[in-house]
Amino acid sequence: MTHITGITRGGKCWTPQFIVAINQANCIGCGRCYKVCPRNVFDLVERDADEDEDADDDTAMVMSIVDALDCIGCGACSRVCAKSCHSHAPQAA
Ligand code: SF4
Ligand code: SF4
Repeated sequence: MTHITGITRGGKCWTPQFIVAINQANCIGCGRCYKVCPRNVFDLVERDADEDEDADDDTAMVMSIVDALDCIGCGACSRVCAKSCHSHAPQAA
């Protein structure tokens, strides 16, 4: 299967890893991924009462994906998340 690919400025092949999910049960609502994301993919929302039972922190806010199709697959969100909440995958071309 071929995936969406590009090249770096130096000409090396780059396969973007697009956001596919956030593990909201692990999210502590710190907002770091929101701050580093260069696109309009995330938003902080109020945590559902159901999710509160699974959360490892009693924060009222949790990160949510509001526009996955705006992701450019840079991976910055995963690099700043202390709770390893994000899952990524290449996109079939
Ligand atoms: S991979 Fe990049 S563009 Fe996509 S959600 Fe994460 S920070 Fe935003
Ligand atoms: S960086 Fe991780 S823990 Fe912080 S808001 Fe984003 S997903 Fe949640």
